[in-house]
Amino acid sequence: MKSQPKPQILLTRQEIEATISRLAAEITRDYHDKYPMLIGILKGSFMFMADLIRHLSFPLEVEFIGLSSYGKSSQTSGKVKVAQDLRSPIKGRDVLVIEDIIDTGLTTAFLLNYLQKKKPASLKLCVLTDKPSRRQTPVTIDYLGFTVPNKFIVGYGIDWDEKFRNLPDICFLEGEDQC
Ligand code: 5GP
Repeated sequence: MKSQPKPQILLTRQEIEATISRLAAEITRDYHDKYPMLIGILKGSFMFMADLIRHLSFPLEVEFIGLSSYGKSSQTSGKVKVAQDLRSPIKGRDVLVIEDIIDTGLTTAFLLNYLQKKKPASLKLCVLTDKPSRRQTPVTIDYLGFTVPNKFIVGYGIDWDEKFRNLPDICFLEGEDQC
């Protein structure tokens, strides 16, 4: 097996847990009587979604959507397509998108536009980590966990070449250039 870059802790599991409690309180305040649909973006948001909804003690539904980017460049191309669509209609629903990371904003902008066309009653965004220094298109984040520096992060569901999703902390990869 080829050698892997070594992950360095950026945000500990305790910091993540405290932040998720705070986000859950904000979301409870706004959605406790709305029977919202929470939509997680695969695969990176699965751990965040699982921990977040354990703090939400009101009726809600969970959905997932899979996106993939295409194009020749190894940089974020901004050309995004839906690889795995929703299984339930969202028309008239209060929808909260659950994302692991926003970088250039291109993926999120595509997704919000895609979901808006399905005419939800409302559409908001909850993001665990935001890397605003690389933004190419403006995105309004309604519930934000952490602002992170311009490093390539992994762990807590977020991968590098499908690896490191199982790390309980959010780490950065030393020596890995920002993709
Ligand atoms: P965007 O640039 O469109 O905001 O982000 C697109 C995708 O790039 C994210 O959903 C994520 O999959 C990936 N990405 C951006 N920054 C990082 C990072 O620091 N680490 C990892 N693992 N993926 C990232």
